[in-house]
Amino acid sequence: MLSRKAMQITPSPTLSIDAKAKQLKSEGKDVIGFGAGEPDFDTPVHIKEAAIDAINRGFTKYTPASGIPELKEAICAKFSRDNGLIYQPQQIVISNGAKHSLDNVFSALLNQGDEVIIPAPYWVSYPELIKLNEGIPVVVETKKEHNYKLRGAKLEKALSPRTKALILNSPSNPTGQIYTREELEEIASIAVKNNVFIISDEVYEKLIYGRSEHISIASLGEEIKKLTIIVNGASKTYAMTGWRIGYTASGLEIAKAMADIQSHNASNPNSIAQKAAYAALTGSQDCVEEMRRTFEKRRDYMIEYISNMPYLTCIEPQGAFYLFVNMGETFSRKFRGIPVENGDRLAELLLEHYRVALVPGRGFGAPEYARLSYATSMDNIRAGLERLESFLKELN
Ligand SMILES: *Cc1c(COP(=O)(O)O)cnc(C)c1O
Repeated sequence: MLSRKAMQITPSPTLSIDAKAKQLKSEGKDVIGFGAGEPDFDTPVHIKEAAIDAINRGFTKYTPASGIPELKEAICAKFSRDNGLIYQPQQIVISNGAKHSLDNVFSALLNQGDEVIIPAPYWVSYPELIKLNEGIPVVVETKKEHNYKLRGAKLEKALSPRTKALILNSPSNPTGQIYTREELEEIASIAVKNNVFIISDEVYEKLIYGRSEHISIASLGEEIKKLTIIVNGASKTYAMTGWRIGYTASGLEIAKAMADIQSHNASNPNSIAQKAAYAALTGSQDCVEEMRRTFEKRRDYMIEYISNMPYLTCIEPQGAFYLFVNMGETFSRKFRGIPVENGDRLAELLLEHYRVALVPGRGFGAPEYARLSYATSMDNIRAGLERLESFLKELN
């Protein structure tokens, strides 16, 4: 008999549509995937070389549980340079990916029944990770007219005596929205007043388009900094998803707890990947800008194309690499006599009849939507959108 914990977990929906698309591909079918949750670029060469060098030098043993000192120093330098934040190396915990960092945070903070507020739409793993750590996810709907960002009044209404933390994800996966300084100030003042931790997932901070800028909520003052745990990592910025390097910056007490937890459940982040991440953070950042520009061109193309399609609407993403598209208007229509009805059915029909894979919004807490990733080539984007358009034209 499995644990209650194990039985209540739902597998990641972003990974399951991807699996279906990959299966069709392996059967030789020409599928165009908008499901990707990772950059389609190769890891930059100088980063790979640092890893090869680490292997050749025999840097292949256990490291300190919370990561090697030189990488912690490089992360502190990053926070100072990019976010105007001063942290000491003891406040940094390096993990096997930002996902692992999030698990460490929840494990260090939550007692059974503690509530964590999640603004919806949200990244699929937050509720599951909270439940695995005996917490209760409290999902708070945001409004389209607020560009799907949490406002102070909504946050205040969601607070209870059991509220331990709030998750902020800016730039957001799936909506691509970015919180402004004023919006963050409002949230920070409520958090400070109520002594609520902020778990600030900033993994997309370097993928920002147009005139938007990333502000870390921790940089708004000493009081909010103490309550904030920043989660970041190498995956999205440096096209390093498979290497598994994430990190946190937090108060010393939390950092110490997370390091101790990690010393038992993971020993340490991968030694070779730590050397690669060091090269990523200390080397030239031109590769990041190059990838960002490519994403931006694709984003612009997709927004323009989709704005001319029937039934669909989307708000312009300012960051990350997803378009979150409202497809609700198709649900009352029929495709070759079959009622579309909902997002899951829509995704199935599209995959089966037009060989286009996208991720239905249910797993993000937004069932009328679908997430289309632009972490795929311009040729794929063009062909995929043409197929989507042909599908929509068949609806009646
Ligand atoms: C991809 C992603 C992560 C996890 O990144 P890893 O470092 O690869 O574990 C965390 N949060 C969000 C919002 C993401 O999209």
